[in-house]
Amino acid sequence: ERALYVVATPIGNLADVTVRAIASFHAADIVLAEDTRVTGSLLSAYGISKKLVSLREHNERDMSACVIRWLEEGKIVVQVSDAGTPGISDPGARLAEAVWAAGLRVVPIVGPSAVVGAMSASGLETARFLFHGFLPPKQGARCKTLQQWAQADYAVVCYEAPHRILDCVADIVATLGPDRPLVLARELTKTFETFLRLPAGELLERIRSDSNQQRGECVLIIDAAPQLATDDDELPAAAMSLLAELAAVLP
Ligand code: SAM
Repeated sequence: ERALYVVATPIGNLADVTVRAIASFHAADIVLAEDTRVTGSLLSAYGISKKLVSLREHNERDMSACVIRWLEEGKIVVQVSDAGTPGISDPGARLAEAVWAAGLRVVPIVGPSAVVGAMSASGLETARFLFHGFLPPKQGARCKTLQQWAQADYAVVCYEAPHRILDCVADIVATLGPDRPLVLARELTKTFETFLRLPAGELLERIRSDSNQQRGECVLIIDAAPQLATDDDELPAAAMSLLAELAAVLP
């Protein structure tokens, strides 16, 4: 069938490649990759050698026309990113949109993604969460973005570069307060996999004092803000005493 196969690859542990992923690599005429060396070594670990074509953010639009032509010629085209699921904070979304628009199919070969791995083991409420991907690298824009989650009643999952994690957590303390619960998930599926589940202020101290926590790949989850009770009986003590004062002076 004429379809683009969007294939998830490991985010660290090579054993996380799926049987379907391997089968799709074997079947492929062309493998679209971000860094062809990264994908080349994944394929060679499984004894596969294929024609690799680079697809990155800057050439995604131009490559789309090429890919559609290959698919129309009956070629089997597989797309991967360096790690995890294509299109998730990675190139792929525009290509998929172009392939659908050309009347062809896009088939996901599902597998690892850091957002799902981090969230699934976080211990946080998972019924609803927001995936935000990378936060703005500049402090002003980052704080503005964080501010919008001051009252969020859902967790927010962010990808962050290791050299920015300290500044990012400091901005969370400044905008959302030191008590906001955070989860830092580092080096998922790798030897030094670590989950730190701490209030923002304590997490900041922890990563400040242990530079190992500023290394490797990380996912930062900002938990929901503690919600104020809406039931009259459960108003916070401060609100109750204010109400009592008001009741005393009102006619
Ligand atoms: N497409 C990928 C996915 O599905 O997870 C994400 C690609 S994005 C360019 C790379 C970011 O994902 C890293 O900066 C980090 O935030 C997160 N990430 C990837 N692998 C990870 C890992 N093994 N442990 C923790 N975070 C990871």
